[in-house]
Amino acid sequence: MEERMNYLYETIAYHSNRYYNDDDPEIEDFEYDALMNELKVLEKEHPEFMREDSPTKKVGGTPKSSMFSPVVHSVRMESLQDAFSFSELEDFAKRVDAAMVGRTSVTEDTLVVEPKIDGLSVSLEYVNGVFTRGSTRGDGDTGEDITENLKTIKSIPMKLKTAVPFIEVRGEVYMPRSVFLDLVKEQELNEEKVFRNPRNAAAGSLRQKNPEITRSRNLDIFIFNIQQIDADYDAALHKDSLDYLSSLGFKTVPFYTPCKNIEEAEKEITRIGNERYTLPFDIDGAVIKVNDFTLREDMGSTSKFPKWAIAYKYPPEEKETVLLDVEINVGRTGVLTPTAVFEPVLVAGSMIGRATLHNQDFINEKGIHIGDTVKIRKAGDIIPEVVSVVKHSEGTTAYVMPSVCPSCGAETYREEGEAAIRCTNPECPAQLLRILIHFCSKGAMDIDGMGSAVLELLVNENKISNPADLYALSEADIAGLPGLGEKSALNLLSAIEASKENDLYRLVFAFGIRHVGEKAAKLLSDKFSTLENIMNASVSDILEIEGFGSVMAESVVDYFSKQGTKDYVSRLMEFGLNTQSKTEKIDDRFQGMTFVLTGTLPTYTRSEAGALVEKYGGKVSGSVSKKTTYVLAGEEAGSKLTKAQSLGVPVIDEATFLEMIK
Ligand code: NAD
Repeated sequence: MEERMNYLYETIAYHSNRYYNDDDPEIEDFEYDALMNELKVLEKEHPEFMREDSPTKKVGGTPKSSMFSPVVHSVRMESLQDAFSFSELEDFAKRVDAAMVGRTSVTEDTLVVEPKIDGLSVSLEYVNGVFTRGSTRGDGDTGEDITENLKTIKSIPMKLKTAVPFIEVRGEVYMPRSVFLDLVKEQELNEEKVFRNPRNAAAGSLRQKNPEITRSRNLDIFIFNIQQIDADYDAALHKDSLDYLSSLGFKTVPFYTPCKNIEEAEKEITRIGNERYTLPFDIDGAVIKVNDFTLREDMGSTSKFPKWAIAYKYPPEEKETVLLDVEINVGRTGVLTPTAVFEPVLVAGSMIGRATLHNQDFINEKGIHIGDTVKIRKAGDIIPEVVSVVKHSEGTTAYVMPSVCPSCGAETYREEGEAAIRCTNPECPAQLLRILIHFCSKGAMDIDGMGSAVLELLVNENKISNPADLYALSEADIAGLPGLGEKSALNLLSAIEASKENDLYRLVFAFGIRHVGEKAAKLLSDKFSTLENIMNASVSDILEIEGFGSVMAESVVDYFSKQGTKDYVSRLMEFGLNTQSKTEKIDDRFQGMTFVLTGTLPTYTRSEAGALVEKYGGKVSGSVSKKTTYVLAGEEAGSKLTKAQSLGVPVIDEATFLEMIK
């Protein structure tokens, strides 16, 4: 048992660090809650193995050094006790009733139910009616000073309607669902890391060094508590305090319902649960609070939460539907990806009819047959997923990925140790479109205007059947295609022409060699200087490059050994594409130094800053280690920054970096 508890302590610490410090969780909240619940039960049964710093006893994660200055909360910012069943709520009600014995309350409505907003808890302080300081909850005792960022949230009043001498209020900063969906679209378009859900987007947007980024994220807030007040005001009931907060100009919780007893509270919780997906913001539960402040005082708090409130957490919504088909999509590198197509169902506020099935192993694990009744949910209330098979329909068999490519009919294969199944035909038309899209993309040959729609037209009209054909296109081939006139044809041709001058690494990346991303392409181009040298390099030559493993090196050699590649490259050369590295060094001031770039820099993109490092003789690495010389960090720097700080690697910002290359 001790072993299991140690495992839980470590696993929970890992996930709570990702959630609270990095704003980048790996697992769903209910999965985290299940780990916490298991730990709570085990701690009760085996208090001898309980750790002093148990997460069941403290608020938030373990604070890490932060880019914000600390704020010591004079009134502790507590968490909330959770409940996952109505019977736990009934136990809570019994404790409230017990505290009531021998006293009369000022109200019949002993409880108040509110939605539990899924965001980030903050405290706001006002002196003489003016906003002076705002902070995060942190570990409940000490939070982070995020005043400047909070000032960018329009619904936080800078001045109250009444200039009370002092008031500290508590609220939840959140990202409205529509803002989140737009942000995700934008992040996908820019091929940036996408936030997992509105809560993490809100946390990541609020804990930004540059308040302008926070401003651009359109966050909002609901205020739900007076932490402390020095004013001529004395409320007896929670519901009156909310009305008072509204009268001062705060945007308070969007609705609250006073209830006489737990049955009424449960009815309200059920109602909110049924309507949760119609709300324009995410909630992860409903909170029941004792209405009468003197009763709250009598009930007190534990080290983690007040005893006078409880949060009922809604389970993720799951729906049953019928799996109609499995669609196979062939990716750029020939990987076949299965997608479940099912009878559309309304889940977590929207109709969904498709979800990825990842690969054959996932399909086997779930035991999926076409025709099955399956259970569907949205991970983080956003991304559809198949949870399990409820029942098979008669006469069906387990789904097996096709042995031939659905696009070109060539055989498929699965490499040992890999989950993916691939098409063997490098000329497969489904792969072709994706190869072309990749070839023309921003990080690769950056052919402006040559997006998926135009490429699809060119492929369908048989104008191109591999990327080299792009360089043979004429005005007549393009003009006249649906939606494309003479002017767009000329623009596209000049973008194609301009791409011939690209630096070598772009071309190497554009080939789409398996395991060779932009960074590996740069390393190859730096080491070998010309495409010809790369093509002639052996596995051991390539392995001399730091950062290259044998899988990558073999993949490069294998790619260039194919006759098809040789023909393709010689055609590109005939068209006059540059095959020399242009990364000329300015000087060697960064010789022997390794930089890791993380976050969003104010002016340069990470690849531009990386190119500068290389121009001055330095190397860019993707991960922080003791060998890292500097971490160049911008906004939203996550785990790399934390790692640098824990290893004592110097962290610099863009301004310092620019100073260094002056
Ligand atoms: P919590 O978020 O469940 O509850 C406490 C918070 O609720 C308070 O800080 C408060 O700000 C907020 N709240 C929102 N609306 C409120 C209202 N109307 N009245 C009062 N408070 C309101 O508890 P927690 O301790 O902050 O965090 C635990 C949560 O974080 C769990 O849901 C857990 O699943 C999640 N978590 C997830 C991971 C992960 O890896 N996915 C890791 C750590 C924590």
